[in-house]
Amino acid sequence: CRIASLERPSSDGIVAALVFRDLTQSKRVERMRADFVANASHEIRTPLAALGGYIETLLGPARDDAAARERFLRTMAEQVARMTRLVGDLLSLSRVELTEHTPPADPVGLGRLIARVVKALDFRAQDKKAAVEVILPDDLPQVVGDEGELEQVFTNLIDNAIKYGRIGGTVRVQAHVIAHVPARAGWPGKAQPVAIAVTDEGPGIPREHLPRLTERFYRVDAARSRDLGGTGLGLAIVKHIVNRHQGALTIDSIVGQGTTFTVYLPAASSRN
Ligand code: ADP
Repeated sequence: CRIASLERPSSDGIVAALVFRDLTQSKRVERMRADFVANASHEIRTPLAALGGYIETLLGPARDDAAARERFLRTMAEQVARMTRLVGDLLSLSRVELTEHTPPADPVGLGRLIARVVKALDFRAQDKKAAVEVILPDDLPQVVGDEGELEQVFTNLIDNAIKYGRIGGTVRVQAHVIAHVPARAGWPGKAQPVAIAVTDEGPGIPREHLPRLTERFYRVDAARSRDLGGTGLGLAIVKHIVNRHQGALTIDSIVGQGTTFTVYLPAASSRN
């Protein structure tokens, strides 16, 4: 409910309206929580059921078939890796949710941080024969933030750009200080914004999906995301971390050309 309404001369009507709005809000939160638990359980149950099936086959029909055993064990290892990623993402999400209302305050240099992320994702880029190009001005100011969380933001965005990008394509990471954040981003801060854009040459995202993309478990193509090892939580984590940093996020996409995710963060006064 809006505090502004409380400042009006109170009357029974207004109090009732406020209570009503509060209830619908808490119902919505409750509903979101229930949906989240149901989705998370479903995401965990699917690989668990697959593992159960493989174990039964290994104990039964495939017991003496060495080639089948090898194949099943490899698939089982993939399912375990998927669940491990999912549990890791669930933990990250709950960690950032807990701290979302206490903004971090450390100056963070983006140059080395992004170089580290790109290096760690090099094997993923090689798999897709993709190049990752980083263009940062030498005098890019530091931003105010939490180094570990920002590393996670750029890992998720660059990993997605490689994952959903074109085979043999280029992923570009560009950063610069900007005068104004686009109004649609809802920049809450007063500090000078630094914009960091991650652009791919993938198939793009149809416009109708853009508003829901940062919701937990929302995927444009669930089967494709799962095939690529996605958890459906990466962008939800990005959004929460960016909120905690009092930053902003915009998504621009042209179907058939590619997608740009831009993160806006408050500049610190010191330099890289
Ligand atoms: P996932 O683990 O499925 O990749 P994310 O939360 O990171 O989950 O992304 C949510 C969905 O957004 C993805 O399933 C995919 O459909 C879409 N998406 C994210 N990044 C891109 C991108 N660079 N290009 C096209 N689609 C993307």
